[in-house]
Amino acid sequence: MKVLVLGAGVVGTACAYYLSKAGHEVTVVDRQPGPALETSFANAGGVCPGFAGPWAAPGMPFKVAKWLFARHAPLVLRPRLDTHQWQWLAAFVANCTAERFAHNKARMQRIAQYSKACLVALREDTGIAYDHGTGGVLQIFQTEEEFDAAYGASKALDAFGVRHCVVDAAQTRVIEPALAHAAVAPVGGLHLPDDETGDCHLFTTRLVERLRGQGTEFAFDTTIRAILTEGGAVTGVVTDKGVLRADRYVVALANDAPALLRPLGIDIPVYPVKGYAVTLEIENTDKAPRSSVMDEHSKVMVTRLGNRIRAAGIAEISGYDRAVDPRRAETVLHAARSLFPQAGDYAKATYWAGLRPMTPDGPPYLGATPLRNLLLNLGQGSNGWTQACGCGRIIADLVDGRAPEIDTSGLTLVDGAAR
Ligand SMILES: Cc1cc2nc3c(=O)[nH]c(=O)nc-3n(C[C@H](O)[C@H](O)[C@H](O)COP(=O)(O)OP(=O)(O)OC[C@H]3O[C@@H](n4cnc5c(N)ncnc54)[C@H](O)[C@@H]3O)c2cc1C
Repeated sequence: MKVLVLGAGVVGTACAYYLSKAGHEVTVVDRQPGPALETSFANAGGVCPGFAGPWAAPGMPFKVAKWLFARHAPLVLRPRLDTHQWQWLAAFVANCTAERFAHNKARMQRIAQYSKACLVALREDTGIAYDHGTGGVLQIFQTEEEFDAAYGASKALDAFGVRHCVVDAAQTRVIEPALAHAAVAPVGGLHLPDDETGDCHLFTTRLVERLRGQGTEFAFDTTIRAILTEGGAVTGVVTDKGVLRADRYVVALANDAPALLRPLGIDIPVYPVKGYAVTLEIENTDKAPRSSVMDEHSKVMVTRLGNRIRAAGIAEISGYDRAVDPRRAETVLHAARSLFPQAGDYAKATYWAGLRPMTPDGPPYLGATPLRNLLLNLGQGSNGWTQACGCGRIIADLVDGRAPEIDTSGLTLVDGAAR
């Protein structure tokens, strides 16, 4: 079949890999001059199924209210005259009950664990390298109150069969020796040894190189303007370079999908939540993280990617603007420097901002739509690097009429009631 994948971020590109492996004639369309130049460009680099869970959690509305008045808050809310923002926020709050949280977490764990297995298999199949590491993620706590919550998190991880270990202050420095130089010593940590790290942009770029060599086409610098339909099916995609046609269409357009889908009567509650990242060269190897550290206090994750450090965090709900606000990037930089002050020259760090395509409940939207040849692959939110391969594999199975290897209930548009 001819399949058109809309969007060449990590989600669209991973999907193209599985479609092409299944023998389809695949074209990927993107407005950027290359792959992974929007949200997939400089994320925190964590492939973290262990952490996969919704942001909409019990107590979150209270925390958000407190952060509204804090200077270095991990979350910033800028209300806009945008009904989609308000609808999204209302749905987010409605998902903050204990019952909804447990339901949403279980669905996200299902797709994230599957996805990590798919990524490992893809890596073995392709041999591509992307500054990846298999050293796990260490979540650290700076207060006793935060550390106490780790025992609750540990119970939840047990329930999902995620290998982990609650560790004391001394053990955090055994796992990540460079924490010995941190400005504030952690009081304890939670270690997830099976989580991975890697550069999402490098992964996507290398995968595109390989796919191109095998016949997959990439139409870059091509902006999608509209999706044409007739008789309950898509008949083409209007771009600034003409109309593109295929047998099946996969929407992997992240935050831009809702506006293109609304005229087709498909309403997807994906809204951008902006995050910031700083990247710097490592100058003192033994003063940098060995793998990845997630600081629960600042909500900043600091990851080694080859000879670089990537630190990322902040959730800013402020619309579609991608501009870097240096104050927010400096909050991230400040958190990284206080953990690993001698790792490199922070004055030389580069700043970036990207928009997480977030659903209010957490899980992505995968698969069928009311239009018989249109499939969704979007809304992976703060977890899209972790989930890209599993989501792509599921779409390829659905295109082939095969049952996906995992239960997709609650991950689709058609079973809206289950969400
Ligand atoms: C600060 C930060 C830290 C993060 N850390 C992690 C992490 O550690 N681990 C993790 O798993 N995830 C993380 N994420 C989330 C992850 O980066 C995203 O979920 C993921 O990159 C989304 O991929 P995507 O392909 O859906 O979106 P994108 O990469 O944005 O791809 C969508 C593509 O669609 C194209 N497009 C959009 N509209 C059009 C149009 N009209 N015409 C043509 N092309 C169009 C865009 O150019 C873009 O290339 C983080 C995100 C941020 C912001």
